[in-house]
Amino acid sequence: MTTPDAPALPLRPELADEVPYGAPQLDVPVRLNVNENPYAPSEDVVATIAAHVAEAARTLNRYPDRDFTALRADLAAYLAVESGVRLDPAQVWAANGSNEVMLHLLQAFGGPGRTAVSFAPTYSMYPEYARDTHTRWVTGRRAEDFTVDTAAAVALIEAEQPSVILLASPNNPTGTALDIATIEAVLDAAARVPAVVVVDEAYAEFRRAGTPSALALLDRYPHLAVTRTMSKAFAAAGLRLGYLAASTDLVDALRVVRLPYHLSAVAQATARAALAHRDSLLAQVADLRAERDALVAWLRRQQVGGRPLRVAQSDANFVLFGTFDDRHAVWQGLLDRGVLIRETGPEGWLRVSVGTPGETQAFKDALTDVIGEREN
Ligand SMILES: *Cc1c(COP(=O)(O)O)cnc(C)c1O
Repeated sequence: MTTPDAPALPLRPELADEVPYGAPQLDVPVRLNVNENPYAPSEDVVATIAAHVAEAARTLNRYPDRDFTALRADLAAYLAVESGVRLDPAQVWAANGSNEVMLHLLQAFGGPGRTAVSFAPTYSMYPEYARDTHTRWVTGRRAEDFTVDTAAAVALIEAEQPSVILLASPNNPTGTALDIATIEAVLDAAARVPAVVVVDEAYAEFRRAGTPSALALLDRYPHLAVTRTMSKAFAAAGLRLGYLAASTDLVDALRVVRLPYHLSAVAQATARAALAHRDSLLAQVADLRAERDALVAWLRRQQVGGRPLRVAQSDANFVLFGTFDDRHAVWQGLLDRGVLIRETGPEGWLRVSVGTPGETQAFKDALTDVIGEREN
């Protein structure tokens, strides 16, 4: 019970009107709202995880390996297979989701009196890392097709002199991958400030053939950090394991700001077990990519108000489409039919994650129904 003279909480004033981040976690039949992998781990993956966790449990009285050496070696080996880029395990860093990896980056390279820059529309968590590290937050705009205009990006960097630049590629919520020339131009401009450039590749495994990863630039740019996650392609959002690749100097800076023993022994064991099954998990990613391309093509054939839907090109496991005069009504209509998608992105657009073929069909049926109902 609060007494009348209970002292007010000394909340930081800039947090007074803030609400916690989060998409609705609703219990509906078809959940296509947070870009999860729709396929639960197979029984053999579950068995490997259980065995690894049992082994870790035998020494839970001890703190875990603070530097998660074995996991970093496994992650480096995975990146060599996935992107053909060979890295020393000391160039790899990990934390509880790539969200925490990026918070480490802002803790080490942002801070009071410093600026972080990104290009909107983009991932809604970035301004929160800036806020929580007292870093000034500045956004440029992406072009009509959601790419980043190279000259405008370089001009913004020169004007704002940021210490951190965040580039999501493939971008969320648009699905857009940046071309390497744009990333290189940003890296060159950043070197003159100097700034750290973070290329957030949370969706990299879903990129279309021929789209290179920024990992290929690491040997030339010591101020580049490429972040990845096991939440999407690896079907392990519940694990909370994100990581990055960078120069060892950059990684050493992150080691200073991390909490001691931030990666539990259980998380390290689970991640290593999942990585041991990378081949079967990546085979599923290929299916999801094909499903995504078919969904983009289908959406492009749909009409609203006598004109075709606009559909952003996607290199991720979701598709941004629109535009609707009342996107909330469309979102609600889908939810009423048991399909949860995300009301996000620029005004009038909606985002749907790629599900199983059955879930995609349920989404298509519901959308056809909702559009038909609203036009009659
Ligand atoms: C999902 C997502 C992440 C991953 O977050 P985790 O903390 O690793 O689950 C990072 N960046 C973007 C743009 C995302 O959409």
